[in-house]
Amino acid sequence: MSQDTLCCICLNKQNKKHCIKILSCNHTLHYKCYIKLCLNKSTFFIDCPLCRNKNLNTDFPHKCQTKNLYELCCNGVGKHFCYGKTKCGGNCKNRSQLFNYGYCHIHNKETINKRYHNIFLTYIKYLFTSNKKGFRTKLYMIDMAKKIIIKRDIKKLEDIIIIFTTYFEKYDYSKQGSPNKFYEEHNLELPPNSWIDFCCEKKILF
Ligand SMILES: [Zn+2]
Ligand SMILES: [Zn+2]
Ligand SMILES: [Zn+2]
Repeated sequence: MSQDTLCCICLNKQNKKHCIKILSCNHTLHYKCYIKLCLNKSTFFIDCPLCRNKNLNTDFPHKCQTKNLYELCCNGVGKHFCYGKTKCGGNCKNRSQLFNYGYCHIHNKETINKRYHNIFLTYIKYLFTSNKKGFRTKLYMIDMAKKIIIKRDIKKLEDIIIIFTTYFEKYDYSKQGSPNKFYEEHNLELPPNSWIDFCCEKKILF
């Protein structure tokens, strides 16, 4: 990659300061542009926009899983201030947190602890490399997984998969058309509709 290589998605230069994705065909994109394509297609196996070869490189760019989670949410989280209000009715000046419905760690305490970041990211990768479900369903599954991981102190991917497989065997999700039963059955709070709609409209993880 030379200094002048343009990213074929945003048409801006790719340079050393940017996080860059090397696709398996060796073409490169800004990581944030790559993530945009992935979330639009609901898969990490996107077709390269330049040569149309399927990308099989699903590696994350950083060693630190927290950084990787932020990178996955780079088009949403951190760009927005918390939706919460201060005691005097002003807008909260904190940044929104990962998968925290647009709130900071004070206005919504369901933030996912660092020690779960590895298993959480492993599950997200599993979702975006393994099945054909659409973005909205995957978004709900990410939220369900987040809550189940915290509630049951889950450490292994298999343990999350078993929970979902059992659920899908019992209820045909596509026929039900609603994930509410999962939340009911596991005694979890539903995510705000506004957050689901915002993420789906913009195709971001936030
Ligand atoms: Zn770009
Ligand atoms: Zn290519
Ligand atoms: Zn706040």
